[in-house]
Formats: sequence, C-alpha cells, structure tokens
Amino acid sequence: NLGKNLTNTMKKLAGMSIIDKEVVKEVIKDIQRALIQSDVNIKLVLNLSKTIEERALNEEPQKGVTPKEHVIKIVYEELVNLVGEKAQEVEIDKKPYRILFMGLQGSGKTTTISKLTRYLQKKGFNPAIVCTDTWRPAAYEQLRQLTEPMNVPLYGDPENKDALDLARKGLEEFKKRDLVIVDTAGRHKEEKDLLDEMESLSSIVKPDEVILVIDGTIGQQAKEQALAFSKTTNIGSIIITKLDGSAKGGGALSAVAEIGAPIKFIGTGERVDDFEAFDPERFISRLLGMGDIKSLIERAEEIAEEDMDMDSVDAMLSGKFTLKDMYAQFEMMNKMGPMQQVMNMIPGMGAKLPKNASKVTEEKLGKYKVLMDSMTEQELENPSLIKQSRIKRIARGSGMKNEDVKELLKYYNTTKKAMKGFGKRKMGGPMGQMMR
Ligand code: GDP
Ligand code: MG
Repeated sequence: NLGKNLTNTMKKLAGMSIIDKEVVKEVIKDIQRALIQSDVNIKLVLNLSKTIEERALNEEPQKGVTPKEHVIKIVYEELVNLVGEKAQEVEIDKKPYRILFMGLQGSGKTTTISKLTRYLQKKGFNPAIVCTDTWRPAAYEQLRQLTEPMNVPLYGDPENKDALDLARKGLEEFKKRDLVIVDTAGRHKEEKDLLDEMESLSSIVKPDEVILVIDGTIGQQAKEQALAFSKTTNIGSIIITKLDGSAKGGGALSAVAEIGAPIKFIGTGERVDDFEAFDPERFISRLLGMGDIKSLIERAEEIAEEDMDMDSVDAMLSGKFTLKDMYAQFEMMNKMGPMQQVMNMIPGMGAKLPKNASKVTEEKLGKYKVLMDSMTEQELENPSLIKQSRIKRIARGSGMKNEDVKELLKYYNTTKKAMKGFGKRKMGGPMGQMMR
C-alpha cells in the first residue's frame, strides 16, 4: 500500500547521511593545513587529499557517523596506510639475528640501540652490540657507558679505524648470542663516503633487518635522507626519535612514505626507557593536531574488539587456537561469568572442561599476561615452537620460573583439546546463541 511505501522511502532517506561536497572540501582543507604545518611533504599532502576526496565522496558513511567524522576516518585510514599498522615488533627468527642501524650523526642511533637492547632483554633475549663508528670521537666510550649498567657485551676498538674490519670481528665474537646489533657512523668527510660505507657494511654484516633512525625534529630534510640511505640497502624498518618535544614528526612521515618501510618504535626522551612501540593512532592524532580523532578511533576500536572476540571464537571452533585466542577467551569468559557456569548451560559440556578451567582467577590471568608479554608474536601464534631454550628465555624475560611457563603451556594444551571437542558439536542453546 502507498502509505507504507512512502513511510519506507522516508525512513530510508532519513537513514542516509548525505555527504556534502562543501563539507568534504572544507575538512580536507583543514587537514591539509595541519599536515603542512607538521612538516609533511607538500606533494604527499596533495596526493593524499586527492585520494581522501575521492573516497569521501564515493563511500557511504557508516550509520551514525557525521560527514565530518566520515572524512576524518578516511584520512586516518589513509595515513595508517602510509605509516603501517600497530604492533610490529622485531621478530627474532634466527640466531644470531643481525640488526644494522643507520642514520645521520645525531639522529639518535646509539641511544636508540641501547633502548632497543633493553627492550629485547626484557623479552629474555641476550643481545650484543658492535661499534663500527670510527668517526665520532669517543663513540665506543659512549656505548660502553650506556651498555655497562645493562650488562650487555660490547665489541669495539677505539684504535681501529676500519669499520668493516670492526664489523667482521664483532660478528665473529658474538656468534653465539641471540642477536647482534651493529652501530654505525653517521658522518664522513663526504656524504658519498658515508653511503659507500653503509653499502659495504651491509654486504659484510648481511643484516636480517636494517633499521633507519630518523630524527623526528628535522622536518623536510628527512625525506631526502631516507631516500639516500635506502639506495644503499634494503631498509626494513624505521625508528623515529625525539618525539618528546614539540616536533610532530611530519618530516619523518614523508620519509616513511618515500621508502615504504614501517615505523616500529619511537623515541620519547634521552633515557633508556623513553622508548615505545609505534602507535599509529597517537602519531596521526599528533600529526593532525587533533584530539577529536581519538574518540572516533576509540569508537571504531570498540567495534573492532567485539569483532576480535568473535574471530577467536571462530578460531576456537575450527580447532585453530593460539595463545592469543586463549587469552582473549579468558577475558571474554570473565565478562560473561565463570566459565564453568557458562559451560554447564550446554548439555554435556560441563564435564568436558579441564578441571581447573573455572578457576582462572584474575591473579592467574595477570601472571599469564606477564609471561605472554615476554613471548614473541610468533610464539603466541604458534606455541608449539616453545621448547626448552625458549622456555628459559621467557622465564628469564618475565622474571618467573620455568615451571610457570610450563604451567601456562600445559594449561593451553588441555584447553585446546577441550575446545576441539567443543567445536565438533553443533551448538544450539544459550551458548550457541551467545557465540554467534
Ligand atoms: P647518533 O649520532 O645517531 O648515534 O645519536 P646519539 O644516540 O648519540 O644521540 C644524539 C643526541 O640525541 C643525544 O644527545 C641523545 O641523548 C639525543 N636523543 C636521542 N634520542 C632522543 C629522544 O628520543 N629524545 C630526546 N629528547 N633526545 C634524544
Ligand atoms: Mg652514535
């Protein structure tokens, strides 16, 4: 009937947020201004604007999102595209894993090496450092002072002025460590000499990862610097330093966009713990000088979190069940009520649970969390990798006992088994509904 049809049409119209070209242009102008003020390269800003405008006008905004929020969300996504996703850490997949640091003098290489070393030590690895900087007066002494309190072995020789020879000897010395980090010079008589040295060092060190250090305060020059270094070797990742001041890091962003390597960490001060895993959301909010992006992203994250829980439920039901999934499940179960109680609602399930499953206390969860923080991404995804030597390393890194690691693994295995049986059932009833 006509009345009903009309009502439906009206309803549809009301539900559509109309994206007004003027609004989009205005928001984009604001964003351009913010990015340019933050030292982002102009060409990059213009390219970005084009993509953003196209997307903003063509993509339907989500329900309940204003046109302005819609545009900001797209801006955010496009910027994340440039800087890389969160949680990329150094993945030590062979021994010794070789990391070669590069960057101009004063960018913060040496300081950052001591920060990264400390970070990896906390994960239970035993790193060593090789000093090949033959240009900075007292380069070796600076590293010695930084590493001595951490008990990290250092190879260097202030008398030896041959960087390549130092690299060779250092690597020979530290063959048995988990990883070796090679510090380099950031200066030479000529820029070309420096870049040649980096190329030669690269061929001698055969790094598993080259990390470029960029000073977050240098603005537009960052792009050229990064480009020059990237011609000598394959830059694997980037660390931006000195983001504790007023610099917004737009120059560094342009550098990142130019060479396409992800940012892994940022430096936020001179002390050894002024070091954080890179957080794109925070970085981009800072870049845009916008507090209000935060709440928007938070809202998106809440939704993502719900999705993640569902993902791990799916994983669980299909039999692929990682330590990460287990942890997510614990947290979800805690929210829903004691596990035993929930499971008892499903006929036949209660008895199948591991005996102590309902006793995953907050305290245990906390302990498991600390242990899992000392594991690598790879180990969390694939716990079967965790054999004796890794158990020791994880225990050492987390300040717990080998037995604690074993307990967690044992718990994981029983839970996984129980979950597998669980997945074979066609689930109806309250649990089935809850999980779908
Ligand atoms: P390198 O020449 O690349 O090895 O640079 P250094 O590690 O010697 O650092 C140069 C200067 O920058 C030192 O004074 C450091 O203390 C300082 N520095 C390094 N990282 C940071 C940071 O994240 N924040 C601040 N404020 N200073 C830093
Ligand atoms: Mg140095």
